[in-house]
Amino acid sequence: MTPELQSRLPHIGTTIFTVMSQLANEHQAINLSQGFPDFAPPAGLIERMVHHISHSNQQYAPMAGAPVLREAIAEKVDRLYGRHYHPDTEVTVTAGATQALTTAITACVRPGDEVIVFAPVYDSYMPAIELNGGKVVTSNLQFPSYKPNWEEVRSLLTSRTRMIILNTPHNPTGTVWSVEDMQQLSALVKDSNILLLADEVYEHMSFDGAPHLSLARYPDLAERAFVVSSFGKTYHVTGWKIAYCVAPAELMKEFRKSHQFITFCIHHPSQLALADFMRHEPEFADALSAFYQAKRDGFRAAMKETQFELFPCAGTYFQLASYARISEEQDQDFARRMTTEHGVAVIPVSAFYPEGDDHKVVRFCFAKNQTTIDAALERLLKI
Ligand code: PMP
Ligand code: GLN
Repeated sequence: MTPELQSRLPHIGTTIFTVMSQLANEHQAINLSQGFPDFAPPAGLIERMVHHISHSNQQYAPMAGAPVLREAIAEKVDRLYGRHYHPDTEVTVTAGATQALTTAITACVRPGDEVIVFAPVYDSYMPAIELNGGKVVTSNLQFPSYKPNWEEVRSLLTSRTRMIILNTPHNPTGTVWSVEDMQQLSALVKDSNILLLADEVYEHMSFDGAPHLSLARYPDLAERAFVVSSFGKTYHVTGWKIAYCVAPAELMKEFRKSHQFITFCIHHPSQLALADFMRHEPEFADALSAFYQAKRDGFRAAMKETQFELFPCAGTYFQLASYARISEEQDQDFARRMTTEHGVAVIPVSAFYPEGDDHKVVRFCFAKNQTTIDAALERLLKI
């Protein structure tokens, strides 16, 4: 008989990304739900991967990451945000941003510690906090601007607040934090022991000329921050599951204590390929915002002809839209019906709220070829 297992995550089901992608596959729907591009990674990166998988070291990489990749990451962060992280002690390569985020939480959060998150919240943060015995404290972004409510955040601080997790550009809302948000955050954590975990996986997707405001730009924030980015997003290789974390040496020392026993090290040839590509084609990442801005603009222009009402989109490859003019259904039901009846899969935004708040909003991923977008639009125009 299988022993009875008391779940450590009793209220958690299967992640919405898996649920919706499976439903899309079952119904041959166009999948604008889970966030991933349907176009090829840069040829130069694939060429380097083929090279390294044929000719280079196929054994364990160093625990913290291949030195060439850590150096390339440190150079990039320095060039873009003006902070130098030492490749030996302040940069670690991880198995996706998901692992980096979970590792940072595992390294820092003790039972009873409180961690502030902003909802809608990316779905991996809360389970990671809870598995470590931490308490999730949620501050809702204000609807419909999705801006942080700093007064509320201040009121949530206690002597047990261990960490604040932020995400800019933000999934799912497509908002980005402003300089004023950064100032508010600085004032909040000044002279405290609060750590920051910055999920910046969409760092190369911020639009309309706005520079990405990495915490690495702000010395008083960076000194207490783990900053996470993902190569999956930047180079159209979400399936490679490679990302990184940068943090001051004392924080990174603790991060690595956990990292070494969670994965130990990351797929070696991919690291060497990414290092080569970053060195040889730095302009690829620099051009990504313009690339996705054009996709955003095309998608928004076409969506204006539908019954959906669009929210602003300042970054990421996601577009939020209200369907209030179309239906009064719960967003989970509406998203399901869009997939099964109309053949376009989307994500219901209530899935990103701990209490399931439903504003009748769904998320579209526009990281798609024009033919995919055109085919989806043809269907969306009929709704
Ligand atoms: N954070 C956010 C906000 C994301 O949207 C994603 C993923 N898509 C991740 C983290 C996880 O990134 P990765 O696929 O590198 O684990
Ligand atoms: N981050 C991606 C999204 O928001 C999905 C990643 C995943 O499936 N875990 O759609």
